[in-house]
Parts: sequence; structure tokens; C-alpha cells
Amino acid sequence: MRGWRIDLRMSSNSESLATLFAQADGAIDALTGGVVPALQTATTFVRDADNVPLSPHHIYSRDDSDLVRLAEAILTKAEHAQAGLLLPSGMAAVAAVLRTVPNGGRIILQSGIYWGVTKWTRAFCARRDIDLIEVDCADLAALNAAASAAAHATILWIETPSNPYLKTVDIAACAQVAKTLGARLVVDSTAATPVLSQPLDHGADVVMHSATKAINGHSDVLAGFLACADDSSDFWQEIITDRHDAGAVIGAFEAWLLIRGMRTLPLRVERMCENAQSIAEHLSRHPHIDSVMYPGLPSDPGHETALRQMRGGFGSLLSVRVRGGRVGALSAIGKLSLFKRATSLGGVESLVEHRNTIESAVPDDLLRLSVGIESADDLRADLDGALG
Ligand code: PLP
Repeated sequence: MRGWRIDLRMSSNSESLATLFAQADGAIDALTGGVVPALQTATTFVRDADNVPLSPHHIYSRDDSDLVRLAEAILTKAEHAQAGLLLPSGMAAVAAVLRTVPNGGRIILQSGIYWGVTKWTRAFCARRDIDLIEVDCADLAALNAAASAAAHATILWIETPSNPYLKTVDIAACAQVAKTLGARLVVDSTAATPVLSQPLDHGADVVMHSATKAINGHSDVLAGFLACADDSSDFWQEIITDRHDAGAVIGAFEAWLLIRGMRTLPLRVERMCENAQSIAEHLSRHPHIDSVMYPGLPSDPGHETALRQMRGGFGSLLSVRVRGGRVGALSAIGKLSLFKRATSLGGVESLVEHRNTIESAVPDDLLRLSVGIESADDLRADLDGALG
């Protein structure tokens, strides 16, 4: 295993990501001096006898939650963005962006990404008479061919590294393609996390996260996050207005948990990357594994691009194809004990999923591993025991 270290310096200002997250952007409770922000759960706030709000920024919690604002500020800084918004789930964030596409518009969507995004987008486009082109954006020749045929589009949507195939998409190259199409480039950066990649620095217009995953990291919050390179655009203003008017906000407790979870995000990501790298290298030599999909492997087709656009770590997600087909994969998954058989990813605990069970297009010998922060030795022993 290579002795890399994640570079936690932020290129756009002097504060490091480690400090930003550990200190929750310097938040101190103004009333008590508490080093942890108070959990204010009120949905409404009183006015004085002259009908003036006691606090000008606190009227009703759909608009006014200091905790939501703080969580948004931390993530916005981490993504080098002009503005950021939290939404109630990753899918709510996806939908908030794609709903800006007008009837008759066109979306170019990376194929083979998180199934929930593909499924929702297909149904949405069919309903709204939007042209949907699905193409493997990790294959730039295929993307360029699709772009030339399309000539224009409203959104180019990529996910890197992708779930569950761990394809790396060249963000800067896609930004060029988006420009020629007159499209906005949106990057689902969930598997990379803001610790490993800042897609806006590579030319993306919007970065999206399922904050349910590593950003929270403890498998106890559903949330989504969007950040933009230009908050003056009509596009971004439309997302703000729709979130507000349609009420797609997160609760104070979820924001509080997110802030708490994010304090250790850089540490967790560093450990998860080390563990995932060592497991990927180990499994790539394993006699019962046919192939390993992980951008940290030098043999991976996306490795060079990942080196360019990720900061020294390649994430906690990997997929393997097990010898013996469906039977081999299901037999191995059934014998794992440290890796919990559950969907989702990015938590401190390691998870494993047979994606084909819920997504029939995925090969039935594929297991997706989300590697946590446990001892890498224990995790490798668990896998060795199960693969037999
Ligand atoms: N994007 C990716 C890459 C995901 O893996 C997921 C969920 O697994 C989502 C988006 C959707 O996020 P959520 O489950 O928070 O709605």
C-alpha cells in the first residue's frame, strides 16, 4: 500500500479543511459560550409588544434555522462554492436541480450511476417531455459523440466516482463539453466527499452530495446538499425559491447531527480511504475475486484522472466481482460478519450489498463494499473467511 496522505489544505484560503470541519467553522454558542451549538428545535419565534421579532433572523423555522445555516456554511466553504443549500435527502437535491429543466429541454445523464437518480430522471423526463440521453461519461469519445449529435442541452449530469461501478469521470473535460452544449455541469460527488474533491474547481457549475453518506458518516441522518459556482444565476435563484416555497428543508436536529458528524469528516475519510485501498489491493490478488473496481488501483482505467481530481485518496466505496457468479457472491455475502449486509455507504461501519438483488441491471456476481473505519486487518480477515 502506498503511504499517501490526504492533502487537507484548502486551495482558496488559508484555513485547512481539517480546521474548518473540526471547529464547525468556529461556531461558539453566543448565549453560553458553548463550543457546541445549541439545539434549537422551535418552529416559531415570538415578537415583542410592538410586533417586532425578538430576533430579526428568527420568525419561522422553515426559513430560519441557525443550525441549517451553519451546516450549509461549512459545506459551502469546503466546496469552494459561492452558496450552498441543504435539502431533506440526496434525492431531494437531485430533484431540485433537475426540476429547473424546462419542458422540451434536454438532459445528458451519465449511465450506470446510482439507480435512484436514473429511475427518477427517466420518469421525470417522460412526464415533462424532456429529451434524456444516457451515455457513459467516463468514455469521453462516447460523450463527445452524444454531445455532437445533441448540439445543445440544459444539464450534463455526472457522478464520480460512480456507484456501483466506481468509474472516474474527468470533470474538467466534461466542463468543456457542457460549455459547447450550453449546458450546466452538475457533479454528484457523494463518493468523493468534499474532503477528496472540489468539482467546482474543475469547472463544474453545481456539486451535489447525498449528505446521508460520508458527510454525516454515522448512518443516522438523511440529507442532501447542493453548492454552486455562481449564486447570481437565475438557475440558482430558482432552486432557492423552490426549496423555500415548496418547503424542502431539513430539521434542526438533522442539521445538528450533521454538524457533529462533520467535525470528524477529514479523519474518517482518511481512515476509510486507507482501509479501502488496502482491501482493494488485497482483493485484487485474491483467487476467488475476478475483478476489483476501485480508482485507487493503478490498473483502474480512471486512476490517472482520479489522481488529478482527487486529493490523494480514492474514497471508501469499491465493488468486486466474485468467482462463481450469483451463487459465489451470495454465498460469500452470507458468511461475512463484520461487513453488515445493508444498503448505503460512507458510514463508520463497513457495509456490503449484492446490488443485483435490488437492481437487476447490475451483474449478479457483483458485491459493493462500503469500507468503514474499523481495523483493516479485521476487515480483510472477514473477507478472507467469507471468500474461503
Ligand atoms: N447519489 C448517490 C451517488 C447515492 O449513492 C445516493 C444514495 O445511495 C443518492 C445520490 C441519493 O441519496 P439519498 O439516499 O440521501 O436520497
